[in-house]
Amino acid sequence: MFFEKLNLIMPIREALKAEGYTKPTDIQQQAIPPLLEGRDLIGCAQTGTGKTAAFAIPILQKLALEKREPRSPRMIKALILTPTRELAVQIGESFSTYGKNLGLKNFVIYGGVGQKPQTDALKTGIDILVATPGRLIDLVNQKFVNLHRVQFFVLDEADRMLDMGMVNDVKKILTHLPQIRQNMLFSATMPVEITKLVDSLLSDPVRVAV
Ligand code: AMP
Repeated sequence: MFFEKLNLIMPIREALKAEGYTKPTDIQQQAIPPLLEGRDLIGCAQTGTGKTAAFAIPILQKLALEKREPRSPRMIKALILTPTRELAVQIGESFSTYGKNLGLKNFVIYGGVGQKPQTDALKTGIDILVATPGRLIDLVNQKFVNLHRVQFFVLDEADRMLDMGMVNDVKKILTHLPQIRQNMLFSATMPVEITKLVDSLLSDPVRVAV
């Protein structure tokens, strides 16, 4: 199968072509169509499978097709939570690459560094925020980020978040999200704590495994 079959808009197809991508990976073939339809999704997949593009491409396409209103400071439209700074940076780079022709703004926040550059960027208005949970909850509590208009929520590497003791932060973040939103959860393994989280977080999800 080629990317042409996935009904992607031209600016995204061109960005993928420029990266040298010709065929969607297994997880991209399975996940992109239901995500474009607005379904919730649970993906059992490891890093290296192309899972980042599997969630980034539909989010970018859906945001690109929306009526564009001026960005509100601190209000974001898509939130991706991931356990480490390295993963956050990589995911941010993927959004920049696949979305390079779209005019959307993405930004990455993580702990262990000063928060001023992050809060300055948030004030300018960001569409897509990639974050580690601890720093995000700090900035939400200080009102530098408002999550009330998040339309797309991704929990990446959920099992690693569990291992790293981040579940309470994730649960706190969930209380700030609006009821109506599209959710995606990715995890390499599905321990019982994750299946519980899936039940509380996702509504009638499509399940994909690679
Ligand atoms: P991920 O599993 O999201 O960390 O992606 C693993 C690597 O595969 C990244 O370096 C991507 O740039 C690359 N990649 C993702 N999708 C494709 C594709 N359809 N064709 C070629 N490379 C890809």
